[in-house]
Amino acid sequence: YEQAKCLAFEKLGEPKDVLRLHGHSISPPHGELLTLRFLASPINPADINQIQGVYPSKPTFTTSLGSAEPLAVGGNEGVAEVIAAGTKAKGIQKGDWVIMKKQGFGTWRTHAQTTADNVVAIKNKDGLRPEQVGTVSVNPMTAYRMLKDFVKLQPGDWFIQNGANSGVGRAAIQLGKLWGYKSINIIRKRETGMEELVQDLKSLGADVVVTEEEFEKREFRDMVKQATDGGREPIRLGLNCVGGKLVNSMAKHLATGSHMVTYGGMSKQATMLPTGLLIFKDISFDGFWVSRWSDLNPEEKDACIHEVLDLTRKGKFKDVPMQTVTWDVKTKQEELIEAVQGTLEGYRSGKGIFLF
Ligand code: NDP
Repeated sequence: YEQAKCLAFEKLGEPKDVLRLHGHSISPPHGELLTLRFLASPINPADINQIQGVYPSKPTFTTSLGSAEPLAVGGNEGVAEVIAAGTKAKGIQKGDWVIMKKQGFGTWRTHAQTTADNVVAIKNKDGLRPEQVGTVSVNPMTAYRMLKDFVKLQPGDWFIQNGANSGVGRAAIQLGKLWGYKSINIIRKRETGMEELVQDLKSLGADVVVTEEEFEKREFRDMVKQATDGGREPIRLGLNCVGGKLVNSMAKHLATGSHMVTYGGMSKQATMLPTGLLIFKDISFDGFWVSRWSDLNPEEKDACIHEVLDLTRKGKFKDVPMQTVTWDVKTKQEELIEAVQGTLEGYRSGKGIFLF
């Protein structure tokens, strides 16, 4: 029997109000069951929205974890090691690493029991750390698909993005660079560490890094002209993580027939669209949701994950800065909950991730 702990909730609300550590035991796996021991589980913005009840994919409430009331376990992404497999479990063995196939698994837990159809096995884990495998399926995947699936960018073409310091933004910079695309990257101004951040993003492959304020200035338009060879190198794709008026300004830099893809709304402001550009420059505004894409394209998702992990292994793709929260028998419930609650505050030194 495994003594398991999970960070769970009975009702929707602010994480600090509704989360609690719940203990239960897991019996040895029979039939097709696998027992998992989690290695790393990130805290993504959507996880918070899901607990608050403002996210379209709802958490799964269950009484199967030995609680009186139905409980849902927080977290959607993570990597676990298979520590035991039932005699009928196919294709996955003890010792394998697995990631979750779909949203809603509940990954903020030390152990879980499931079947092979709910996970994807990472057979070759050589040269990879749990933090890297545990964060591959949401952020890099989102960046990858947005760069590939809306516009056929050619090497030398540009894309422009806000929220460039987000996990998705950093992945887009790197994948774009590998594929020969150039990028204009908008970040928020911060009191400290500004220069380091700019250098960090440039070291990942960002061509231009600019703050929201600088971006809105007239001089910046001249700078973009210069960078893009007088506009001869078109900016054909925009990625929107933030929303607000900024998107209107970004769209003005796009070439005729470009696409602006919205994937996040970090500023909580409505995305403002330029009426004239919609009409006269044939700019398309799209949305992207990696959960839907993954459900519709499981095989491509698999290929994409393995491609990014191969790049990671070769040192060509860097994981994001992380604030690790060690989760062991000594860790207090408050520390875990605090890490979750702090996620939407911004200006953080890295993505929160539980390491078990
Ligand atoms: P991270 O936690 O890695 O980063 C969050 C980013 O948001 C930080 O760079 C932060 O900027 C920025 N930010 C926070 N508040 C504001 C604000 N008020 N104005 C501007 N920027 C702000 O996030 P992820 O990369 O995991 O996710 C980023 C967004 O993308 C989220 O909204 C998330 O839900 C969404 N997302 C959507 C997916 C989809 O399929 N549609 C998939 C994955 C993510 P700073 O660096 O200055 O603190």
